[in-house]
Amino acid sequence: MDDLKHGTRDKRGNWAPRDPVAGVAPFYALPPKPMELLAWLKGYLFPWNLLFFISALVYWAWVIPPVAVMQTLAWGWVLKLLALNALGIALFYGAFELRLYMQRAQHTRFKYNAKFPADQKSGVFWFNDQQIDGALRTFLHGVPIWTALEVGALWAYANGYAPWLAWADHPVWLALMVFLVPFIQEAHFYCIHRLIHVPFLYKHVHSVHHNSVNPSPWSSLAMHPVEHLLYFGVGLWHLILPSNPFIMLFQMHRAAFGAIPGHVGFDKMELGGDRAIDMHAYAHYLHHKYFEVNYGDGIVPFDALFGTWHDGTKQADEKMKARFRDKKARANARKGGMPAE
Ligand SMILES: [Zn+2]
Ligand SMILES: [Zn+2]
Repeated sequence: MDDLKHGTRDKRGNWAPRDPVAGVAPFYALPPKPMELLAWLKGYLFPWNLLFFISALVYWAWVIPPVAVMQTLAWGWVLKLLALNALGIALFYGAFELRLYMQRAQHTRFKYNAKFPADQKSGVFWFNDQQIDGALRTFLHGVPIWTALEVGALWAYANGYAPWLAWADHPVWLALMVFLVPFIQEAHFYCIHRLIHVPFLYKHVHSVHHNSVNPSPWSSLAMHPVEHLLYFGVGLWHLILPSNPFIMLFQMHRAAFGAIPGHVGFDKMELGGDRAIDMHAYAHYLHHKYFEVNYGDGIVPFDALFGTWHDGTKQADEKMKARFRDKKARANARKGGMPAE
């Protein structure tokens, strides 16, 4: 595919999409814009959210044990869930890693950063290697923490410690909850993300994730265990909200498998001919590049509200630099204003 039909490439070889990235989903627009809304809805459902919904359905049908089994915490079902979660992540993340970073099947077409992390060893990573570091953190504590929280939630449901609404009694409400899963994720992630950008937590926790300035698939869950806890904690909202364990499972799959599009590093993955999958990833790529922009992805427009949205344009770049200058000036003024000792 000709990626220059969709974007531009600078002299370093870095590709960027031509159109600004929307920081506000069109359903907040007044007066309403039905055609834009339909186009947005299509992108909202296909392919990613539908895929994670299907993965949750498959687990619900074939992996999650009967309620009587889940009432007791026993190694059998817990280890089986851990193994299948690890296998799912290995296959799904591994497919992107293999195709785009090991085979380099589309070279740098649609790639935001022209360089490949494997060509840039760095001491910030375990074994000086971004991919090994990310994969180890994913399997050593990412998948276990995800599984532990999921097991805890299933156990709570099975023992009647959380409201379990039945589909037969509340079909409309539960369908709405399913639809809102990405919104819950976005609102939760935005809040914990702002929290871990507080200097102390950034230094000790979130900097691990930001070591990947040029993210690749295994960067998705390359996090400190505390960030994993906060990140996968999103599933626990369903123990408080009127919901049910299947929707909790979907929420967890959205977090675990859904971390990948934002970290693939390519705007589109080519499928042959003129077909490609959209990653919708530029906003989060810019977060990895500039740190203090795009804490969320725009489904819930917090960034637009609080002035931290970067849509990839030159104007947004200028606005961001002005904000950084202001921040620095305020910090200097504070220092200068301190009484001399
Ligand atoms: Zn990230
Ligand atoms: Zn961050």
